[in-house]
Amino acid sequence: MKCVLCEINNNQIDCFSIYKDTHCHAILDKFKLNCGHVLILSQSHKQSITELTNIERQHLMNMASNVSLAMKKANHKIKDIHFLINDGPGAYQHIPHVHLHLIPRYQFDTLYLLFNILTRFINPLNYLKNKKMQHSAEKISHYLTHR
Ligand SMILES: [Zn+2]
Repeated sequence: MKCVLCEINNNQIDCFSIYKDTHCHAILDKFKLNCGHVLILSQSHKQSITELTNIERQHLMNMASNVSLAMKKANHKIKDIHFLINDGPGAYQHIPHVHLHLIPRYQFDTLYLLFNILTRFINPLNYLKNKKMQHSAEKISHYLTHR
């Protein structure tokens, strides 16, 4: 079965990679809800967080924690971060492969965030910021490895 997140993990689709190991892969979300929106993908193709092994699940959460700290170091304007898992189609999971969203929050960003939620998959501006996203991914990656 074709799965876009498996294709990203297998380097068949370009992405803004931040970190990768045997259990998980951190990337910038091309359909971001806010600037610097990160996804932590599991390496194994499972739909639900409950189907991962204990080691995979713990590792995913630990990586999300470490990446969130790196995001704040890379961008001091980030105030706080949503840790979000949509588990199952009824919970707005669009791709049946475990991924945890790290959605940064900035001061006075509520209207911008709502606009992005409404236009997430149709906002043409999302594709025009590749250079900036590459720089952002590299910066988070740097702070992840230089703690
Ligand atoms: Zn998959």
